[in-house]
Parts: sequence; structure tokens; C-alpha cells
Amino acid sequence: MNSQVNSITKERLEDSIIKPISHFNQARTCHTAHYRLDEMRKAAVSFREDMLAKPQVKFYRSMELIRVPYPSKYAFLNCNVIPMPFIHILNRLFVVQVETEEGLKTILLSPSDTEANAETPYFKKITDKAGPAKGLLKKFIAPEINSVEGCLKQLNLKPEDIDYISYDHLHTQDIRQWLGDDKQPGLLPNAKLLVMKDEWESANNLMAPQLDWYCPNGLKGVPEDRIIQLDGDVMIGEGLALIRTPGHTDGNHSFVAHTPEGLKVTSENGVGPDCYAPEHSRIPGLKKYAKQTGMEVILNGNTLEAGLDQYISMIVEKTIAGNHPDYTEFPNMANSSELTGYWGFPGYKPTVTYGDLNFGTLTTNFNK
Ligand SMILES: [Zn+2]
Repeated sequence: MNSQVNSITKERLEDSIIKPISHFNQARTCHTAHYRLDEMRKAAVSFREDMLAKPQVKFYRSMELIRVPYPSKYAFLNCNVIPMPFIHILNRLFVVQVETEEGLKTILLSPSDTEANAETPYFKKITDKAGPAKGLLKKFIAPEINSVEGCLKQLNLKPEDIDYISYDHLHTQDIRQWLGDDKQPGLLPNAKLLVMKDEWESANNLMAPQLDWYCPNGLKGVPEDRIIQLDGDVMIGEGLALIRTPGHTDGNHSFVAHTPEGLKVTSENGVGPDCYAPEHSRIPGLKKYAKQTGMEVILNGNTLEAGLDQYISMIVEKTIAGNHPDYTEFPNMANSSELTGYWGFPGYKPTVTYGDLNFGTLTTNFNK
């Protein structure tokens, strides 16, 4: 009896923090992709206006975690633009605080466990080829800059301060270190994972084309009560939205944060601002390809779980983001895996990068 009461109380508590939004519901039902794009674009304009009229997040900070190699044939799908087979992407952690009906909540977006992620078959195949020189190769091709624990310490946040964690999708992720499993408790005693139901189900029931990109056992044994499966688009308190953006994976979602610099949109459907405005890109070939084909965006296509939807999702993302206030030819994206220059991988340079972002005032010393 008591446990039932507890679970009802918990659900109600969560309901007052996580609220469904309906802007895209009608547009998503449009069966033909061509018309779905039109309707989703209109819905994105209306959502952007609504969100900009509402309060901002209290704190927003992005911090560098690790650089990882990534095949250019996936990063710039079908573009064949550079001679290098690999480019470098920079994974960041985003720390966000929002006001909710239940007080201030702290959310970590993309808290990658960089050590455990290395077990992902795609990475492992590259480093295993080096045999005994594996450690050195790893340091060279995937230099670690910081860890989630290091970032929290730097901000003076305690593990128990974290209320939620979320990833735009679950490729390469191992969440046991944060949420625990049936063997040991996790580092973040109060955190719950916010994930789209489709992504959770898909990542727990992988098919052959997906295996290279998901960390084996990365979700295994994580207690069910630490997982919040979402059916669709939601607001998390004030100023942070999770919007379903299928494509790169079927259960993909994007983070939209209202900051003093407008709406920052985080996703991995594309690997940086160049891919969201290829007509202005100076990466050789991107602009030409976009002009020849009429493509408004360049897909990050390693798994292409839903190609046309990915195209629609990226246009939705850049419409919600609007233009960056300084780099006005490019949208206000804050990509979770951002294309970055690296001396070890010469031959390309992103046209713009926005660097680490820092807005608002961080609250610490919670009594949890
Ligand atoms: Zn991915």
C-alpha cells in the first residue's frame, strides 16, 4: 500500500516538472514526407515564438569532454568533400539549471563516460588494430580533455545535486557509472535518465546495423525507477525543451535551451553549424553539393535509421534555433558532437565553431 502511494506521489512530482507540449503533434501525423516537412517547419516557427516569449534557463554551461575520430563519409553524407577519411568531433557536456514547480532542477545533457564509451565496437575496432600501441593511439586519436566528474568538481556541484541526465540518443553511451546497475550504485544518487521511449526500446533490442554504435551492456541492469521514458515532446521546467527529432536514430531528441543568446539547439543529427547551413560553408565541396542537390542540410549518416525524417528534423532544429547572433549566416546550434579542427587530422577546418558556452548564474550548495 505504502509503495503504491509513493509511486503515485513520485509520478505527480514528475508531472509538475516534465510537461508535454503539443506544437508538433498534428504536423507529425502528416503521412507524406514532403508535406510533413512543410507542416513541421511551420510548427517549428510557432514553437520558437512561444519559447522565446517564456522564461530562460537559470544556468547553461557547455564543457569540452573528449575529441573522437569520425569517418568523413558519415559526417558529410554523400558529399565526398575532403580527402581525409576521418574528421574530429568534440563531445561536450551541457550543465543546465531550470526553475520548476518543485524548485530548481539540475540537468546534465550528454554526460559521456569517456572510458566506458571506448568499448563501443566502432571505437574498439580502430584502437585494437594498433595492438600493443593501443594506449598511445587512443591518446592521439581520442584525446580526453575532461571527465564528467572533473566538470562537476570544477563547477562545485555535488553528485547528489544532479536531478536528471539525458542524451540526444544513446549511441556509444554507458549509463551504469551514473545510475548504477544490479551490482553497484551509481555516482549520481538522485539522477534519472530522460529518454524517448523509442530510443530506450531500440537500444535494448539492437539489430545488426546498429551494433557498431551502441556500447555493449551500457544500459544493462540499470534500475527501472531511474529511467523516465517519454512519449514525445516535453518542457523541463522553464526554458528547456526536449523535442523529438527522429533520424540519426529513430528515438532521437534535441535539447532546446532558452538562453540570453537565444534558443540553443543541441543534437547530433548534424555535426556542426556547417551542416545546418551548407550554402555558407567553406568546407570544400559542401556548398557545391548543397547547390547541386537543393539539400538544405547535410546529414550525419552513420546509421540512417530514418533518412527523410532526419532531413526534416534538421530543418526543424535550425528553424527553432534561428540564426546565431554573431555568425548570422549560421543557425544557433550547440551540437553535442561538434566538428572541430585538430592538428592530427589536417585537411579541413569548420567555417565556424561557437566554443564553450556559459550563461546565467549557477546555484550550488543544495541541501539534498
Ligand atoms: Zn550517433
